[in-house]
Amino acid sequence: MLTPTERINNLLSDLRLQPVNFEELFRGQNKLTPLESVELFLNEELKLRIEKQNRLRRRNARLPYEKTIEDFDFGFQRSVSKEQMLRLSDMTWVEQAYNICFLGPPGVGKTHLALSLAVKGLDLGYIVAFETLDNLMKLLKTSEISGASRRRLKYLKKAALIVVDEVGFMPLTPAEANLFFTFVSAMSEKTSLIITSNKGFDEWADFLGDATITTAILDRLIHHCEIINMTGNSYRLEHHQSITG
Ligand code: ADP
Ligand code: MG
Repeated sequence: MLTPTERINNLLSDLRLQPVNFEELFRGQNKLTPLESVELFLNEELKLRIEKQNRLRRRNARLPYEKTIEDFDFGFQRSVSKEQMLRLSDMTWVEQAYNICFLGPPGVGKTHLALSLAVKGLDLGYIVAFETLDNLMKLLKTSEISGASRRRLKYLKKAALIVVDEVGFMPLTPAEANLFFTFVSAMSEKTSLIITSNKGFDEWADFLGDATITTAILDRLIHHCEIINMTGNSYRLEHHQSITG
């Protein structure tokens, strides 16, 4: 014999609703009318559904790790101010599909700041995604033959904000540069991009291999864009930790 709770949870499962801890939900609520009980239950289901969607959205973002503006040392990295980052963390620029480019040498905190804005976006309910350029290229090149790549690209299309990390680390072939152009073009005006690059814009032609395609990409990217040039020493090198201390 199933208990009433077990029977109800089976029904919830058939209805693709989440199991509810009824004992906890109705504790101290013995004066509720039947309709008020139904309302309390439905509100609980709604809350559980939103929580589940939020967890899923966070997982689907595929951030390599979560960083915050609070744990960034703006005394060490002086080419960007905390005020500037806090202003950007209201994320209103995503509504206008503005882009942000963090440019600078390795270790200055480009990925850290990009991730901290991605986290803010997730907290505010936006669909966010993270890819290195290398991985984005793999997705674009395998979309014809891989269902997983197609699904990921479909998710990127839905996103309000995509972080493209490590642009410029590797030279692109002409075919890859074209794919990157098509991607940036497709995103422009509707999806915000955060780009991190260890190369200044004047050096982009070197890894993109072609001046025309470089101009075309930068033209789309920079049209509505906050450009943050970061200088200074690598935080990693200055704060390196050895095993023996
Ligand atoms: P980049 O992407 O510019 O190469 P990262 O953002 O990956 O650099 O930074 C390298 C490491 O140093 C990360 O663990 C990051 O959290 C940390 N880091 C970099 N700059 C700072 C900073 N100013 N304050 C605190 N941590 C920093
Ligand atoms: Mg980085």
